[in-house]
Amino acid sequence: NNFKDLINEQVILDAIADLGYTEPTAIQQQVIPAVLKDQDVIAKSKTGSGKTAAYAIPIIEKIDWNENKPQALVLVPTRELAVQVKEDFANIGRYKRIKSVAVFGSQPIRFQTTALRQKTHIVAGSPGRVMDHIERGTLKLDELKYFVIDEADELLHMGFIDQVEKIIKKLPKQRQTLLFSATYSVEIRKLAEKYMTNPTFIEY
Ligand code: AMP
Repeated sequence: NNFKDLINEQVILDAIADLGYTEPTAIQQQVIPAVLKDQDVIAKSKTGSGKTAAYAIPIIEKIDWNENKPQALVLVPTRELAVQVKEDFANIGRYKRIKSVAVFGSQPIRFQTTALRQKTHIVAGSPGRVMDHIERGTLKLDELKYFVIDEADELLHMGFIDQVEKIIKKLPKQRQTLLFSATYSVEIRKLAEKYMTNPTFIEY
């Protein structure tokens, strides 16, 4: 199996080669084609499986560089993960000049507001601070096309469910939704049934 069979843009293949990824992981082999086919995806996946690149690679391929407002939003449970996801998008999207911004609660909001005022393709953040930016008008979601809920089980365990739902209600209805979770509980199934469209279920 080969990244060349999954990805079209040479700039992405070049960045992946720089990162030393020689072949796609099991989850990447399944998730990348599904996302490129515009499907909603539920993937049961653990940290360490290559799940971040599994959604970052196809989203980067689909991003329209010329659009200045955010096209993708990734919700994560922690600041560390927000920064990690932002960096993964920046690394894989390096030669496409993809701009990613992390937003999280423990940093003064003005740094993030300044960053969001520039061209931003992707925002990764924790629910509280994402909602804060939406309410201040510093995060504009009218061009959003790709929405990722990462570590959904952790988000629910940490009590973020109400905020996640509040954010989803602010998103354009016409969008692609991807959900990643180590476990697939009743709560997560309910969330998926409510907010996803014919999701493809990927487990490996
Ligand atoms: P994640 O599951 O997203 O936390 O990724 C775990 C680690 O695997 C990260 O350090 C990634 O940079 C790395 N990784 C992701 N995809 C690949 C790949 N196809 N080959 C080698 N390493 C990878």
